[in-house]
Amino acid sequence: MTTVSAYTYAERLATFEGHWDDCMTTARCLAATGHISDRPPLESLEAGSRCVTCSAFVRKGLSTRAFGDNGSQDYLEYFRGFRFHLPHCQRLQVRIPLDPQALLGGLHGNGFQSLVSKFEKFSPGTKSATPTQRFPQTSSLFSLPTELRLEIYAQVLPHLDDVTEIVPLNRDSARVISKAGYEKTGPRDTTKHNVLRTCRAINDEASDLLYSSSTFRFAASKTMYLFLRSIGKRGRQLVHSVDVYCGSREDAMAFALLASCEQLQYLTVRLPRPKILPPRSPLWCVDGMSCLLSLSGLRSVKFGFCESSFGCMDDSRSDADVIRKALTRPKGAAGSLRTINGYLDV
Ligand SMILES: [Zn+2]
Repeated sequence: MTTVSAYTYAERLATFEGHWDDCMTTARCLAATGHISDRPPLESLEAGSRCVTCSAFVRKGLSTRAFGDNGSQDYLEYFRGFRFHLPHCQRLQVRIPLDPQALLGGLHGNGFQSLVSKFEKFSPGTKSATPTQRFPQTSSLFSLPTELRLEIYAQVLPHLDDVTEIVPLNRDSARVISKAGYEKTGPRDTTKHNVLRTCRAINDEASDLLYSSSTFRFAASKTMYLFLRSIGKRGRQLVHSVDVYCGSREDAMAFALLASCEQLQYLTVRLPRPKILPPRSPLWCVDGMSCLLSLSGLRSVKFGFCESSFGCMDDSRSDADVIRKALTRPKGAAGSLRTINGYLDV
């Protein structure tokens, strides 16, 4: 087993608590990528965090720009001018979706940045997170009973099935779309979402209908990350059911972000291995599982089918109970799994 810092994800996250409370989503992402925010000396004085393995220091303002909901049009700008890790840091195993430096596992090149910049021009949905001043509602729409307004939104908004599969719009793209929309032939009607842009009050009510009435399914944790990012803080607060195929290098970041979905109740995990962690698991695997197990307060945890020659996690495996118990523990309660030298003792 390779020696790394003795910090687990939960211990790294704990170093942020108390002085990053205004941006815990960013703190979770930083902890997932291997950063801590010790006090004192440097991190406190300069307001930032550092990697436990390579000691790369990043100022808080840069991290919140990279991981926060800032509504910027060009995500590459989020990551320009700094690195979360030095070029050969072991923590680069844990991929940060959207970070071009992390995408190639430590290979840095301007050529790749310019290639990616061809793809992305905007990040849909982030506008809904932009603070908007509230005004008294004078529209006659608001004189209708709420149930009637919800019925109107249901007629206007795109229909979501009980299970909505989300897929990337393009390969290497940050944009996501429902699978039904992706496979639809002919021109797409992108005006159906316009009701969300009418005003803040309608956005609140209609978003609720859009995000809380469906189970969102993802064939990869990276897609889940991109989706959760694209719907912004407001959307994440409404998501209540997720079905995700995990077991990739983006797991840590994706589950760290999923932790900001405070209404999440139902989770289906598709894990292509029969144990929580195989012997001599790589760092990205350990951190991915640690971030998954950091979720708490769920009402129901299921294990879905996944194709794997190693077998997959299902209810016949003893580790399935361990995962379910961890995720259904009371919200915010400390995990009961022990750690040894920074690794889960499983
Ligand atoms: Zn590092």
